[in-house]
Amino acid sequence: MQFVSTRGGSDPVSFFDAFANGLAPDGGLYVPKNLPLLPSDLLIEDALPYPALAWDILGLFDSDHDPDHLVEIVDKSYGDFSDTMSAPLIQLSDNQFVLELFHGPTLSFKDFGLQLIGNLFEEQIERTGTTINVLGATSGDTGSAAIAGLADKKGVNAFVLYPEGRISKLQERQMTCTGADNIFPIPIKGSFDDAQAIVKELMGDLKTKEELRLSAINSINIVRILAQAVYYVHAYMQLPPENRDDVNFVVPTGNFGNIFAGWMVHQMGLPVDQFVVATNQNDILCRLFNTGEYEPEAVLPSYAPSMDIQVASNFERFLYYHNEKDADKTLSQMAEFMANGTLTVPNFDASNFEAVACNDEDVLRNIKAVKETYDYVVDPHTACGFQDLDLSKTNVVLATAHAAKFPDVIKKAIGEVPEDESLEALKKKKQVKYAVEATPEAIKAFVTEHSA
Ligand SMILES: *Cc1c(COP(=O)(O)O)cnc(C)c1O
Repeated sequence: MQFVSTRGGSDPVSFFDAFANGLAPDGGLYVPKNLPLLPSDLLIEDALPYPALAWDILGLFDSDHDPDHLVEIVDKSYGDFSDTMSAPLIQLSDNQFVLELFHGPTLSFKDFGLQLIGNLFEEQIERTGTTINVLGATSGDTGSAAIAGLADKKGVNAFVLYPEGRISKLQERQMTCTGADNIFPIPIKGSFDDAQAIVKELMGDLKTKEELRLSAINSINIVRILAQAVYYVHAYMQLPPENRDDVNFVVPTGNFGNIFAGWMVHQMGLPVDQFVVATNQNDILCRLFNTGEYEPEAVLPSYAPSMDIQVASNFERFLYYHNEKDADKTLSQMAEFMANGTLTVPNFDASNFEAVACNDEDVLRNIKAVKETYDYVVDPHTACGFQDLDLSKTNVVLATAHAAKFPDVIKKAIGEVPEDESLEALKKKKQVKYAVEATPEAIKAFVTEHSA
């Protein structure tokens, strides 16, 4: 399978290169050249073990690895997930379900993509003989999941900048308590944007990037999307037969990566009625799907911080398909967006989608209502999925994080604090972090000194 850029200005590349490049050289995002159909027997089988299903689906896209090798990489990526099902479907009532995506090492769905990416990095280093330094900035979940994916991998060191005091204590512990000597968490004075600006400056300087063999923790890597497509099929296969006709997937959404993965696998033949885009009070995507206007506003901090996003990078992938794979049109729309800061999508067809937005009060109310109605505790991101749910439909709400990651909000909502053993264990571990001055020069010097 080859991968092409949404903007049409880069050559088609292999799975290996789409993975290693992250962003296409023309600034576009990689998408599969064609979307293959799911094998016809896949959907009538009973739930396969998660790794087996993941080989079947990833194998449709990855024609570069020897299949046995792919099996090995997938097994390594998902073998440690605490629940043997990896992504168990929990039935709340006759037709309401939750897909738990928080059984990976950092208790958010981001582990599905980033565990696989960590193993692919290691494999790439073995294959090319070149070590790499991963450099990124994080406001929480992505950094901890990336660190968990890269800890103790050979030939790669990871440098992750985060705004000191502005991520949760548990998230900080997830990054600083790995005990791995190839991981360098760097708290910096300033905001997430300040951290991101330093990373962008260093990555944007091609000489530095080459000299230090820098790679990004990419939120736009196509491999993350492919990995996430798997659990939609896994969820479908766990549904009772009487619930399979008319399923809605409800997805707490920020960067549009997770929901795009579901929509993509729907194009490949997974029967889905509607996708529900559930945002927090940063509702750019909710407005888009209701009006066709893509218009960012200022980011408002919320109780669901991993969705505090205005510009949803993966939307460009959806736009490309909406344009019937017309890359020139996508390029000119993205240019319009970059020039004007807004985009009107003509004849916007949102027929597969519904959208809701949820403010902080709604988050608290939904956590409480789900607890009272179903005796089930959802995290603040998942709570957005319960906003205005149409209970006459079969809904699968994606639970994107474990409630124990957000004890303060849960306590506010229901007066009790959920616990998780792995998070409790972290509180006893030693934290290792590196104080470095928040300038590109100082960070560059630090990476040079501790390079892989
Ligand atoms: C990242 C994240 C989201 C948003 O997912 P996108 O793919 O960016 O839409 C939702 N919930 C949690 C817990 C997250 O970490």
